[in-house]
Amino acid sequence: MNEQHMENPCKIICFGDSITQAWAPLFAVRMAERHPDSSIETINMGVVSDTTVQGLKRLDRVISESPQVVLMAFGMNDWRKGIDLHRFKENLSRMAKQLLRNDIRLLLLTITPDNNLETGISGAIPLYNREIENVANRNGCRVVDLFSAFREKINPISEALYDEIHPNSLGEQVIVDELMDIVPLSQTVIVWTYNGEYCFCNYNCPYCYVTSEVNTGHAYDGQISRWHDGFRRRFGSSPLVFYLAFGEPMAGKGFYEILDMIASEPTWQAHITTNLSMPLERFVKTRIVREGRMQVNASFHPSQTDGDDFIKKLTFLRAHGVEPSVIYVMYPPQMKKFKDFFAICDALGFFVHVRRFRGDWRGNVYPQSYTEEERRFVARFCDRLTVRYMLNDFEDHSAKTASQLSYAGVNYMMVDDRGDVWRSPDFKGDKPMGNLFEENFKPLYRPAAYGGSFLGSVNIVASMRETGIYQLEGNHTWCFAKNGGVYRDAKGRIHYPLMVSDFDDSSLRRQLNWPFIDNNRGGIR
Ligand code: SF4
Repeated sequence: MNEQHMENPCKIICFGDSITQAWAPLFAVRMAERHPDSSIETINMGVVSDTTVQGLKRLDRVISESPQVVLMAFGMNDWRKGIDLHRFKENLSRMAKQLLRNDIRLLLLTITPDNNLETGISGAIPLYNREIENVANRNGCRVVDLFSAFREKINPISEALYDEIHPNSLGEQVIVDELMDIVPLSQTVIVWTYNGEYCFCNYNCPYCYVTSEVNTGHAYDGQISRWHDGFRRRFGSSPLVFYLAFGEPMAGKGFYEILDMIASEPTWQAHITTNLSMPLERFVKTRIVREGRMQVNASFHPSQTDGDDFIKKLTFLRAHGVEPSVIYVMYPPQMKKFKDFFAICDALGFFVHVRRFRGDWRGNVYPQSYTEEERRFVARFCDRLTVRYMLNDFEDHSAKTASQLSYAGVNYMMVDDRGDVWRSPDFKGDKPMGNLFEENFKPLYRPAAYGGSFLGSVNIVASMRETGIYQLEGNHTWCFAKNGGVYRDAKGRIHYPLMVSDFDDSSLRRQLNWPFIDNNRGGIR
């Protein structure tokens, strides 16, 4: 399984009109800069004056290039030349279907605002854009919402245009910035709480924040085939990563039916966080495991299970082609046991992802209440991102804005056991973005302000735009750690960057969002 942000090699065709023709060269440069180790070819197929009518005529040429990705951007000339909404939608829809039938990842771009001297932005543009969104949503494609990006970033719009409709260099930058946020998202991560709010769990860990509800799981509603159709209908042929967690997924009802469903689509993958308590013989024989499309986070809970048995299971998985990441929660009473456990995992070359404890212990709130010494101990086994955003981050993220933009709702979302789709598990207070089985599903098109009050998990942190992790593929935990400086050398030995760091260094402390030392109290603020 690869850990690329996007397809590699990747041929991207920018397919549209003169506006496309204008921004495509800058986009090609920025893509090459962003992905220096990938083979990315960008082809400019923007043609002056083209409408969807000419687009349809040129479609065969686009397909004959065998691109992995097509950015389709029509509409400005359609409305100006009198191609009505119905015909525009039909043409767009025909092109979308044909491109998707050829296994091309298709993104639809909304029309940028114009500067109509009489009325400002022409009223037709939002109407045509609505049809672009409808076609995208019906076909499970992503939208790149250039119209909203212009409205948000440019005022007056004329500043970004060199005539009534064409972007100048500022306008091209706005377009390309927006594309750079969305185009690399080659997969959608679906957290599927298929057994209810929390999946059944056979453990009762003292630090589990879902413990009281965790043993009451039930199966998802209806037949698995209905769910398969629902995911296909809403997400089209785009690659999906199903993340099964929140409790013990292997003990959940319907677990193996779900694995079969995911395995039946070649571009779908599965990812689980499991306590490894269940027998693994059936698991390793499943198609999805045999085909290398399953990633496992194995969480070790010393109060519930024996360390030797756990290590044996890790080794068993490895022997069957699954390289698990190990998770250990730094709950204060079990911190002392960590070093010995880590030494065994490290000697065997298993990556260990340390999670800070989040919750109350003896009347103190964690992670705030770790002493300086405990905090240093935990940090040594972490990557930089985990320390910065999880161990040391106590801020209310819902209060923050631009720098905390998140891809939750764009390429990371949660589907519950009724098929309602939410931006993420942290957004349950909001309205769902629609339902898998109804016609009302509408994902977000652009990163939006993070709505949770704290950062809950690797997946959520990795959806934050400022972490620079645009896509988590392969093993989420390992990808995350790798972005935070952890690496495996040629001999298979794993290196943790903070193991030998000087935590008295003030610039490092700033980078890691480390609380200051209160010398009077000998602890943190
Ligand atoms: S194994 Fe995980 S879900 Fe189950 S009780 Fe422990 S922490 Fe909670």
